[in-house]
Amino acid sequence: ARQRFADANPNSLARQNEAAASLPGGNTRAVLWYPPFPVSFVSGEGCRVTDFDGHTYVDLVSEYSAGFYGHSDKAISAALVDVIQGGILLGAPNRYEARLAAAVVDRFPAIERVRFCNSGTEANVMAISAARAITQRSNILAFREGYHGGVLTFAHGGSPLNLPFPFIFADYNDIAGAAALVREQGSDLAAVIVEPMLGGGGCIPATREFLEALRAATKETGALLIFDEVMTSRLDYRALHGAHGVFPDFVTLGKYIGGGASFGAFGGRADLIDRFDPASPGAFSHGGTFNNNILSMAAGYTGLTQVLTQEASRAINARGDRLREAMNVSLERQGVEGIVIGRGSLMNLHFVKGPVETPAPLDNADPSVIALWHVEMLLRGYYVTPRGMLALSLPFGDAELAGFTAAFDDFLSSNLKVLP
Ligand code: PMP
Repeated sequence: ARQRFADANPNSLARQNEAAASLPGGNTRAVLWYPPFPVSFVSGEGCRVTDFDGHTYVDLVSEYSAGFYGHSDKAISAALVDVIQGGILLGAPNRYEARLAAAVVDRFPAIERVRFCNSGTEANVMAISAARAITQRSNILAFREGYHGGVLTFAHGGSPLNLPFPFIFADYNDIAGAAALVREQGSDLAAVIVEPMLGGGGCIPATREFLEALRAATKETGALLIFDEVMTSRLDYRALHGAHGVFPDFVTLGKYIGGGASFGAFGGRADLIDRFDPASPGAFSHGGTFNNNILSMAAGYTGLTQVLTQEASRAINARGDRLREAMNVSLERQGVEGIVIGRGSLMNLHFVKGPVETPAPLDNADPSVIALWHVEMLLRGYYVTPRGMLALSLPFGDAELAGFTAAFDDFLSSNLKVLP
């Protein structure tokens, strides 16, 4: 399959080889590399992308969930053109920043005040640092296989470049274990950071009971609770904390909230975030040249207020639920050991026996099967992630759902079917 892939993509290969002279691996983002080399894109429209060799794919990577609005939303494009014509580096508060803040505060119930930055990683670094400064405590409890950004990576062994925060780790969805650690840490623990669904860790939803237990235990010990909703805020109109009715002290955001431009935000309880008010004595300083850049502010505001309506949010998440179900029906019918898990518009295919309610069963996966799936789906015209994560964008409709399901079924029967 890799040979067929290489033969079909000579221009992407040429780009890769040329780029590798100045960029190690040919690209700046670890996640975009896979063997033998990644396809490169020249353009996108709706939920489709076109590569250097002229193939068009239905896009189910959706920029690792940031591409929620698709590639050519008209309202967002118009807002971007409008601000570009008015000058993009104004160096002062601008006409979109406070409107985006108000839209974020209005939508997400745990966010009473918000501050903007440039990435989800930065949002988490700020929330963790604020929690340590506020509590005057040092330790941070995180979960194995969680992902909180390029410098806060714990999944699959993590990275030697992890920031030097004193992290301690618990197991995801293990209520007793996590609550015991929070209590044992007591007044040494500044914060617990958790994704309400493990995204990069395989789209494993937290149970509501798990999130409630973290809320109760942190309240008891005075640690702050941070929900990393950089990926999950798309799964409900009010983000997952709103869907579950569990309110953390801080919420971090990123990805699609910037309307497709670079973005991060951290927000939460007014009394905590107000510590950043420069007019108050002893205020925390928070700088960043591009924190309020008008491209992200305008695209984000337009997306949240004009595109991602309650109805659009409900529809795309219902479509994701249908896609997950259809893929699980295919796996069952073809007798292939595998399961698609997740919630709404975000899901992950795993070639292991279900159920998968914690990361542990994923250790049993044979990595060569998902790698075969990846290449075979690319060859069938579907752009998917090498690890099996799928993210829908708003333009992904019922026709694309039917086409993808048929291609997946064809892959299972042609490449993996267990013969009776
Ligand atoms: N937290 C989570 C849960 C994420 O999924 C990501 C990005 N994949 C980040 C943080 C980091 O965001 P960014 O890539 O914008 O720094």
